[in-house]
Order: sequence, then C-alpha cells, then structure tokens
Amino acid sequence: MNALSGRFAARTVRVRAPGKVNVALDVGPLRPDGYHSVASVYLAVSLYEEVAATSVETPGITVSISPDSTLDLDGMDIPLDNRNLAYRAAAIMADVSEHATGVHLEITKRVPVAGGMGGGSADAAATLLACDALWNSGLSREELAHLAAELGADVPFSLLGGTAVGLGLGDDLSPALAKAQTHWVLVAADFGLSTPEVYRTLDRLRAAEGVEAPEPDGVDPRILTALRGGDAEALGTVLVNDLQRAAIELAPSLRDTLGIGESHGAVAGMVSGSGPTVALLAEDSIAAEGLAQDLRRFGLNALPVHGPVPGARIVSDTLL
Ligand code: ATP
Repeated sequence: MNALSGRFAARTVRVRAPGKVNVALDVGPLRPDGYHSVASVYLAVSLYEEVAATSVETPGITVSISPDSTLDLDGMDIPLDNRNLAYRAAAIMADVSEHATGVHLEITKRVPVAGGMGGGSADAAATLLACDALWNSGLSREELAHLAAELGADVPFSLLGGTAVGLGLGDDLSPALAKAQTHWVLVAADFGLSTPEVYRTLDRLRAAEGVEAPEPDGVDPRILTALRGGDAEALGTVLVNDLQRAAIELAPSLRDTLGIGESHGAVAGMVSGSGPTVALLAEDSIAAEGLAQDLRRFGLNALPVHGPVPGARIVSDTLL
C-alpha cells in the first residue's frame, strides 16, 4: 500500500540471468542418495533469460511466458504452476521476506528449453534477485546463493556468473577468475532431453561395460589455464563431458551436428551439459559468426555467443 494515497503501488523489477555451458563435466558413480557428484567448469554465456517480477494486489504467484521470447516454444512443456522453477524461487523468497506481496512473473525465454544450458535455473536465479529487490528482503548474495542451491544444482551458478568450478552436486562453487573471452556457436535442437534420463543412461552404459567411475576430485588444471588465456586451441584439446555419450545414445543426430560443426571450422565441439544443445568452440568472434552462418545453411539453429558474462543482474526497477 502506498501510505500517502492509500493505493497499491505496483512495481516491476526486471532481471536478466545467463545460460551456461559446461566446459568440463566429470560425473561420478550413482550415489546411494540417487544423485551423482560432479566436477564441472561452468562458463556463463551471452544468452540471457529475463524475468520481470511485478508486485500485484492479489496474494499469490502467477507466471507467464513473454511473447518477446526468441525461442519457438510450440510443443515445449513449460509448466506455469509450482513445477516452474521461477515460481518456486518466488515462493522461497516470499517465505523469507517480511514484506512479500502477490507477484506476477513474466519470463522471456531465450535459452533452449530442456537444452542442457540451465534455462530454468537462470529463471530461478533471476526471480530470486528480482523478488529480493521487490520485497526489500535485504538478503546478502551469500544468503541468496544458499536459497538458490535449494532450488537446483545449477541455480547458484546463474546467480554468480563468470567462470567457476562446481564440485559436489555442482553447487559448491569456486569462482575461477578467468576473464578472457572465448567464442562459441550454440546449436539448439528442436527437441529436449530430460536431465535425469541422460544421467540414468550414463549409469546404464557404464554398468553394461562393467566400469565403476571414480568419484570426481577436481577439474583438469589445463582447462582453467586455457580459459584464463582465452586460448581456444588449447581449450579445444581438453574439453570433457561425461554426459555426452549418454546424450548421443538418446539422440544419435547429435553426432552429426558435432561432425558438421567440426568440418566447418569449429576448433572443437561438445554436447552442453545433458544436451541436446551442442556447443562449438570457435577461434574468435569473427570465426563464430562465420560458422553460425554456415550451419544455418544446413537448417541448423546456430547462435554465436561468448563468455564469460556476469551472473544475474537487475536491468530495471520501475514504479508503475
Ligand atoms: P539443466 O541443464 O539445468 O538440467 P535444462 O537447461 O536442460 O536444465 P530447462 O530448460 O531448465 O532444462 O528445463 C527442464 C524442464 O524443467 C523443462 O522441460 C520443464 O518441464 C521444466 N521447467 C521448470 N521450470 C522451467 C522454466 N522456468 N523454464 C523452462 N522449463 C522449466
């Protein structure tokens, strides 16, 4: 309530948060609790989700997807109720905020849905920050990161951004202070892959081979050295993603996408996280533009991006 007019003063806080590429993803064996330990190098890339959180008089949380989304969302299953990660982020913030109001969340989707780039996690990170500002919760970044980890293993990284090493479930983050830019072409698929199903497939492949994967105990230091120097050639030789073969097992066309990328000048290519988005490493920004154009001629949905970029940031705060 606005104290002077007695009228409700609506306010919109708009936050953008980046998607990510896992430059390295070592996956340990299935743990008794059903999870897998990982050792990962996260890179935040210049493809952003945006969440506009507007305070409303009616209590509760509502979610919509903005028509400004650049993705073709036809057939994509994005729940708008409490299964949506942004909804859950707002609910957690409402619990810890003394001055919570009703809130409407409008999500502009740009990160491929179920694409292995943490799009839903970016929505959650953006919502945490937006509601924190909207309700003057006064939480520190550390407290927000704690709430983020409750929402999902990739949410703390979208809040933090940059380059970071993730251990444990991926949420035990250490910033890597690698600021040099690397350039990538993302190739989005027109289908999604379920992250739990990709992990289950990896477990099945390993069991069939009689392989007991070791517990990951850190990341290859050559990856961080290459990232610090922005050295695409060196980085291309050390990219690793244990989930890649499981994603290819579920979606064999990913092998073709990687092959087309590498035969058109990519330094190296990998499936991003659990896929099916493919991340192709380019020599520099001009090479990335050229590669993306070439791939579009094959009918591929190719987008040049760069990273690292900052984590979730407020872009506007407007009294309506
Ligand atoms: P990750 O790599 O973090 O596992 P992802 O990028 O592969 O995730 P998301 O786009 O985050 O996948 O979403 C995976 C599934 O989660 C979707 O298919 C959808 O059903 C559900 N979901 C929940 N909240 C969201 C959201 N805000 N945006 C998109 N999907 C969401």
